[in-house]
Amino acid sequence: MTQTRTLESNGASRAEHLHGDGSCQRPRREVVLIGAGHANVEVLRRFCAAQLPRGVAVTLITRSGSELYSGMLPGVASGRYDLDDARINVGALAGRAGAQLIIDDAIGIDLPRKAVLCRLAPPVPFDRLSLDIGSGPTAGRVAGAEMHALRVKPIEGFVPGFDSMRHRLRERGYRGRLVMVGAGAAGIELLLAVEHRLRSEARRAAADPDGLTFTLLAGSGDILPGFPARFRRTVRRVLEDRRIAVRTNARARMLDGHQVHLATGSPIDADEVLWATEAAPANWLAETGLALDREGFVRVDEALRCVGQEDVFAAGDTVSFDPCHLPKSGVYAVRSAPVLAQNLLASWTGQALRPFRPRSSVLYLLSTADGRAVGTRNGFTFSGRWVFWLKDRIDRRFVARLNASHDGSDRSPGHDRRAGKHGSVHG
Ligand SMILES: Cc1cc2nc3c(=O)[nH]c(=O)nc-3n(C[C@H](O)[C@H](O)[C@H](O)COP(=O)(O)OP(=O)(O)OC[C@H]3O[C@@H](n4cnc5c(N)ncnc54)[C@H](O)[C@@H]3O)c2cc1C
Repeated sequence: MTQTRTLESNGASRAEHLHGDGSCQRPRREVVLIGAGHANVEVLRRFCAAQLPRGVAVTLITRSGSELYSGMLPGVASGRYDLDDARINVGALAGRAGAQLIIDDAIGIDLPRKAVLCRLAPPVPFDRLSLDIGSGPTAGRVAGAEMHALRVKPIEGFVPGFDSMRHRLRERGYRGRLVMVGAGAAGIELLLAVEHRLRSEARRAAADPDGLTFTLLAGSGDILPGFPARFRRTVRRVLEDRRIAVRTNARARMLDGHQVHLATGSPIDADEVLWATEAAPANWLAETGLALDREGFVRVDEALRCVGQEDVFAAGDTVSFDPCHLPKSGVYAVRSAPVLAQNLLASWTGQALRPFRPRSSVLYLLSTADGRAVGTRNGFTFSGRWVFWLKDRIDRRFVARLNASHDGSDRSPGHDRRAGKHGSVHG
């Protein structure tokens, strides 16, 4: 006789299968997903519809039962979206996929014993592992940044942090100097959203919207490194129109609560600092024994398998893709999901491992928080209200698709013809 026992882990539950004699037997095939990142949630969505091989049990270990979709975070900051518009109900998705959900922090991987180590829960055994824990900003490497700056990641911390910032500025009559450290797409989109929200609130409170100043710090010689020149120019014009000052070659070295000190040049006065620098990997990965690149990201081969590992796969911002450089961008995480879903099950479904072949050109849409957006694809740049309309539609559909009950129209892992038609970015 087999029955199911539920284990509590920080409010979430996990099942083990017990035999009549009380001995505990793991289901034969444990697929464990760490992190409800873009790739793993898409894997779960595919598992909702797929007939998983007999004996396969899926477990998701992640920090929260709901996630804010990063592509819509600037819209939440600008006030365009409610939190619920941008929320992915990870718990419900896991439930529909028949997966156990463990709300916890993974803090290690015991490769020889094939188990994930968690902060609170007991070790979680795996036969196949999918690591999709994203990345964080490099704040930990800059003295004072964790204490004095509002970091964009983890995303769940940004919204309450921004609410507190709005409160402080309201108390000060909307007078203050705001500095955004990080001039990549996320930093710029978020700063435009913050500027729009705060200056609108100042106007509504009959305060001078120019009592607030905004400065964007780019660590290199231009904003938006890696993007086409025309896209950069168009976004620069938007920043100028919105009276956002741009400082290039301004790499933050230290924050002290009043100023941002730079590697070179005079410090910048700041009452409020936001932080959205380039991606950094989780520190604990260094202890796992997984092969890492020089920066500490997990090296994967073309099948998304961790280099030197048979059973461990990874995707999203946390990986360094051996075949070619991939930008840290949600689109690549989502695009890798069909491959990841298939490869996690391949040895049990008789399918060969499938290579991930990322497209070199993707569509990137950056909202300017005034009902417009700027986009780029294949070297072309375009902007306007219709671009925002497109972004809004794609983003809402992405979230809705993950939150929707299964409608029977889905396909099995690895056979999604719609792959790529998601998110603010697609190729
Ligand atoms: C404001 C903003 C806007 C953006 N807009 C876009 C855009 O329009 N298009 C685009 O392509 N990219 C965009 N990005 C980049 C995009 O967010 C990232 O590239 C993407 O989130 C990476 O996805 P991921 O799957 O690697 O992980 P994430 O989506 O970051 O998810 C990581 C998951 O892992 C969980 N986790 C982390 N550590 C642990 C742990 N130790 N144990 C358990 N769980 C853990 C987290 O809770 C989370 O569920 C934007 C980023 C920001 C900040």
